[in-house]
Amino acid sequence: MNRRTFIKSAGIMAMSMTMASRTRAKSARMVGMQIGAPSFVDEGIENCLDNLQELASVNTLFAMVFSYKQGLSGRPWPPVDHGLQQKGAAFQGGYYARINPAYYRGTLFENDAQVLRAPDHGDFDVLGDVLPAAKKRGMKTIAWVADQIDDSIAPFASMYEVDLNGAVLDQVCFNNPHYRSFLTAMINDCVHSYEIDGLLWRSERWGALTHALRWDGKKKTEIPCFCPHCLEKGKNAGIDTNRVRAGYQALCQFVRQARSEIRPPQGYYAAFWRILLRYPEILAWDMFWYDSLREIYKLVYDTAKNIRPELLVGSAIPHSLSFNPFYRAVVDLQELAKYNDFLKIIAYHTDAGPRGTGYVDGLLNTYLADIPRDERLEFLYHIMGYQEGNFASLSARGFSPDYVFRESSAWVKEAQGTSLQIWPGIDIDVSPEQGNDPPRSRESVKEAVLAAFRAGAPGVVLSRMYSEMKLEHLRGAGDALRQLDN
Ligand SMILES: [Zn+2]
Repeated sequence: MNRRTFIKSAGIMAMSMTMASRTRAKSARMVGMQIGAPSFVDEGIENCLDNLQELASVNTLFAMVFSYKQGLSGRPWPPVDHGLQQKGAAFQGGYYARINPAYYRGTLFENDAQVLRAPDHGDFDVLGDVLPAAKKRGMKTIAWVADQIDDSIAPFASMYEVDLNGAVLDQVCFNNPHYRSFLTAMINDCVHSYEIDGLLWRSERWGALTHALRWDGKKKTEIPCFCPHCLEKGKNAGIDTNRVRAGYQALCQFVRQARSEIRPPQGYYAAFWRILLRYPEILAWDMFWYDSLREIYKLVYDTAKNIRPELLVGSAIPHSLSFNPFYRAVVDLQELAKYNDFLKIIAYHTDAGPRGTGYVDGLLNTYLADIPRDERLEFLYHIMGYQEGNFASLSARGFSPDYVFRESSAWVKEAQGTSLQIWPGIDIDVSPEQGNDPPRSRESVKEAVLAAFRAGAPGVVLSRMYSEMKLEHLRGAGDALRQLDN
């Protein structure tokens, strides 16, 4: 080898090493995109994947496989700068992949499993049709399954939660044996039938205490769950369910008065504590709900891992985490790490403005109702570790990307010592614009993505769904990733 050849080959070696390390650095960061079937149908699979890769450096699809929520698997209206530009057929929802009825034997769907199939897009299969194209590009696919059910489908009618006053709620009960066998069947079907890389089961809901404190004092309370399965399980666990009912009735009376600004003589804070001290069953029932939720996390995890141990299995934590100290308290990562490989922690900074003010005026305006609104917000910032602005303009302004950094840091730190990966959910045009929305921008998306990675998160999930994101704003994610890779 002469000197010139040596220099040339050394140069190529160095170049290929740099490229290799760059590829490693890139592949080490998970950049996920939540995407539903209509985007692939309306824009074409290859075109969608081109956009995701080129504009936002996405390397992982969170393909919405089962959902009855339009905001997760539908089309936005009004439309954005891509996708269908006129009103499509009415959204229906369901399972967007192929159904194999054999897996549903022994469930309430054994005679008609096809009723679960989403009718929205003909034979389009969000896994079967997309996986080969994604794999060819080296993109991973995580199947995303939500906890919603649909009351127009008969077997679901026996799976609903029942509230404090006996009203049937429009959400599924985690202690319902029919739901558990149905969910197990669906996970088996999905994991056996497709070469997916991971599975996310999503349930963005909360227990009885949060429902009670969020109650507006007028509508149905939606305090879960007083169905026969929960009552029996609770009794077997040694909980006096009659005392639970009495406690929550007392709490509802307290909330009703708070909404009418009828101040208890001893003040709201002490009155709240008096009820909790008199009825410790209130907290027991709240934790009972979360323990039941965790049983479902574990059921999903064990079912999927028994089929394919290498699969990444995790869940999503709702935004209540950021505004509700009682919700934050139950999210114990040392516990959750036992049956989650990853958690999507929702840290939608823009939408945090209207959502945060909603909590200050709602849930916090009960036991903290003696504290003026701006100071309640300050209290929230102090206990959650945020520094955002005052109440007056918050709803129109949104939170800053600094919130994403602080929130991500807190959960990355808590996950230390476990194998749990924290993937913050990044707000890109979450919720269609109502006219008084906080401003959205490419720069703000870029800053939010950078903040999550700076906090040590190994990945981000671009949210809520590709079909509602403006391409210009999506580019902010690509800007961030390019900056990180240089
Ligand atoms: Zn129940």
